Amino acid sequence: MLHIGCHLSVSKGFLHMGKEAVSIGADTFQFFTRNPRGGSVRKLDIEDVQALNHFMKENHFAPILAHAPYTLNGCSKTEKTRQFAVAAMTEDLQRLEYVEHCRYNFHPGSHVGQGVDTAVDFIADMLNTAMFSGQKTTVLLETMAGKGTEVGRNFTELARILDKIKWIDKMGVCLDTCHVFDGGYDIVERLDDVLREFDHCIGLDKLKAVHINDSKNTLGSHKDRHEKIGQGYIGIEAFTRIINHPALRNLPFYLETPNDLAGYASEISVLRQAYRE
Ligand code: FE
Ligand code: FE
Ligand code: ZN
Repeated sequence: MLHIGCHLSVSKGFLHMGKEAVSIGADTFQFFTRNPRGGSVRKLDIEDVQALNHFMKENHFAPILAHAPYTLNGCSKTEKTRQFAVAAMTEDLQRLEYVEHCRYNFHPGSHVGQGVDTAVDFIADMLNTAMFSGQKTTVLLETMAGKGTEVGRNFTELARILDKIKWIDKMGVCLDTCHVFDGGYDIVERLDDVLREFDHCIGLDKLKAVHINDSKNTLGSHKDRHEKIGQGYIGIEAFTRIINHPALRNLPFYLETPNDLAGYASEISVLRQAYRE
């Protein structure tokens, strides 16, 4: 069975997201841990989280994905920004202990001119500070499109971060189809080669989730503009190969396409029809 969902708003609570997911034919979803462009966080309603846990079990959900805010930049030049990143990630990971079968995805960050070497050290330090022994949640580095000074623009950069992590068993990678395509990996014509390279650099056992987005731009454009499935430069035929590929077909897929709920429901239905049981 294809495990698929989309990004949902947490504003009406945790159980609400679970019900919304089921209403659009999803068996998972993604949500922001806090205001994506700010940093504020509201008090965790533990009863609501437990209601979601129960609901997900009853409805056989695949693991869900918590996304860190975009403002979290653990490799910033500014010390204050780095301190916020460590504090926010620490708090997010503590809170996520209440949520069952949840992974935590974040953007490695932007080095803003300091260079990748310094950035890799800052990001690893942040993870080694925020993560803790006995943690349930697996933390995922997202593959980035490489716009500006984004770190994680290729598999090698992600591998360099992973190499420095203390709790490596609790680390993985989330592959964003729009980002890797914009980053220059040809998942349309050479999917096998791209996955072989991922395996060589990082190891396919570390691949835990896929952000499934079409791209408004061409291969290697380094732009990061998501498009609806089938309406961009990746296209439905490539997505059919992606969701059915032996190395990917059992992973959870999360849509981050520009859509309302009805739009997500129809993309989920199209992809379910393209999946070979
Ligand atoms: Fe993301
Ligand atoms: Fe993404
Ligand atoms: Zn993106």
